[in-house]
Amino acid sequence: MKELEERILKDGRALSPEILKVDSFLNHQLDCTLLKHIGEEFARLFKDEGITRVLTIEASGIAAAVFTGLALDVPVTFAKKSKSLNVGNDVLTSRVFSFTYQKEYTITVSRNYIKPDDTVLIVDDFLANGRACQGLIDLCDQVGARVAGIGICVEKAFQPGGQELREEGYRVESLAKIKAMDEGYIEFE
Ligand code: 5GP
Repeated sequence: MKELEERILKDGRALSPEILKVDSFLNHQLDCTLLKHIGEEFARLFKDEGITRVLTIEASGIAAAVFTGLALDVPVTFAKKSKSLNVGNDVLTSRVFSFTYQKEYTITVSRNYIKPDDTVLIVDDFLANGRACQGLIDLCDQVGARVAGIGICVEKAFQPGGQELREEGYRVESLAKIKAMDEGYIEFE
């Protein structure tokens, strides 16, 4: 998606060969016009998949997920990162290794908000090693919901998550795919 690539070049900042900062439009301050276009693009790409629900992880996936849910006219569920005291039959959990914090945490979703008959579109801001997406897929698998696709704003294609998910048979659509980067330099595929 040209608009997102151009914005990354203008306002994104590669802090290292591994970490891209996009705080001014995607991760902290939100550019709602850009996010609206992102949501519409995911809706266009997945319009024939019969999506009934968008699923993401708090916090930074929520904005893109909301605009996608709006464009598809389906509910959005976000997995919570906090540990729930209420771990019973009504709650699904999975363990995820955080790329940004370099530690494992538990994600939680109520069984009320992913259903066995759901066809799910997973949406997230970044795809690096794929752990966040794998955790969300695990939650869907636990209830038997179908994962119809994965929509990613920024895929760092030099990290293995995208390739692994595609090899597992998931349809992964990334709106900007970074081939390589370093301080002051970003190259798209
Ligand atoms: P993964 O689970 O695929 O390894 O990492 C994806 C998650 O880590 C995303 O939800 C995103 O919040 C965070 N993340 C991964 N790489 C970056 C990055 O380069 N910049 C930012 N801002 N977040 C990232």
